[in-house]
Amino acid sequence: MSRRRSTERLGTDPSSLTRAVELLRAGGTVALPTETVYGLAARADDDDAVARIFAAKGRPQDNPLIVHVPTLAAVAGVAEPITPLAEELLRTFAPGPLTVVLGARPTLPRRVTAGLDSVAVRIPDHPVMLAVLTDLGVPLAAPSANRSSRPSPTTAAHVLADLDGLIDAVVDAGPTRVGLESTVVDARGELPVVLRDGGVTREQIAGALGLDPQLLEGRTVDRTADGPADGVRSPGTRHPHYVPALPVHVAARGDGVMTAGRLMAEGDLPSGPGPRGAIGLVTVGGSMAAPLPDGVVLIGAPRDATELAAGLFRLLREAEALGLAVLVVEGVDPVGLGRAVMDRLERATAASSRTA
Ligand code: AMP
Ligand code: MG
Repeated sequence: MSRRRSTERLGTDPSSLTRAVELLRAGGTVALPTETVYGLAARADDDDAVARIFAAKGRPQDNPLIVHVPTLAAVAGVAEPITPLAEELLRTFAPGPLTVVLGARPTLPRRVTAGLDSVAVRIPDHPVMLAVLTDLGVPLAAPSANRSSRPSPTTAAHVLADLDGLIDAVVDAGPTRVGLESTVVDARGELPVVLRDGGVTREQIAGALGLDPQLLEGRTVDRTADGPADGVRSPGTRHPHYVPALPVHVAARGDGVMTAGRLMAEGDLPSGPGPRGAIGLVTVGGSMAAPLPDGVVLIGAPRDATELAAGLFRLLREAEALGLAVLVVEGVDPVGLGRAVMDRLERATAASSRTA
């Protein structure tokens, strides 16, 4: 990886956004805020521009990108046919954190779809992203603006920590609202197939379509299955994700202090560059009943799954930056947004135990 270019820091004032559009129009890469996480954008109609996204991220070529458009009408510019299911989902949830997978128009560069005949497309719910898309007048391919396998960025500082010198610019609009990526739904058939849980919940999708949530449940693609069917359906799920530089443990709700205390008592903690052997703790929804054991640092105390979702990737990065040995996070019920949160946490756990 060569960090050769200087990455421009842009704000959200009109001249900054004009500059962002100018860089994108010329085929550059610009990290832009969305309501989910920061995306690394490049024009989706330009194969060389899209190649720059893969290069900056170090992203495997077989992991396709989500294409962002500003309006329902613009979805038809990249996808066909627009199924009745996709229309209904988009009418209900767009703009918002829902991505639909549809047939790809053959004019789209193959690099965007990683050679698949389908394309993932969404309308983001962020004024800056929408303004840039509208002004540019071209769809933007934009995966999360992190180095591949790292936690997704929810601030411009996170983007720069991973990609400074590797991309043309970042537009800083403050922390993102949702904090987790979009829900990806295959909308080519009559019933939705959730390929990745995210900002729009299964309960919301079932409610909007008048479906029994159990039905949706039954159509889950098992991301842990190794079979080729899963690989073809949702290629991105094969690759490691959300890998922080420290091991992550998920504790039962209300059990974080106990779990951290037990890990501390067991000793033998890997030492980070920071406080030797210290354990970071994230509690959820609780008042801290017990005092913190020596060596345990409370780094976050979100009230519920929504707040944990908004802060999770930031907390993973903060725990790393503090040089903590281990991060203990209290889990949440896998319902509503909690399902997406637990998906990310389980992947962070699995990934960190592989690398630990
Ligand atoms: P991100 O890197 O967060 O932008 O994630 C994009 C996700 O969308 C990955 O899990 C991709 O595998 C998935 N995706 C993108 N395009 C497609 C597609 N055509 N079919 C199925 N999944 C897709
Ligand atoms: Mg990503």
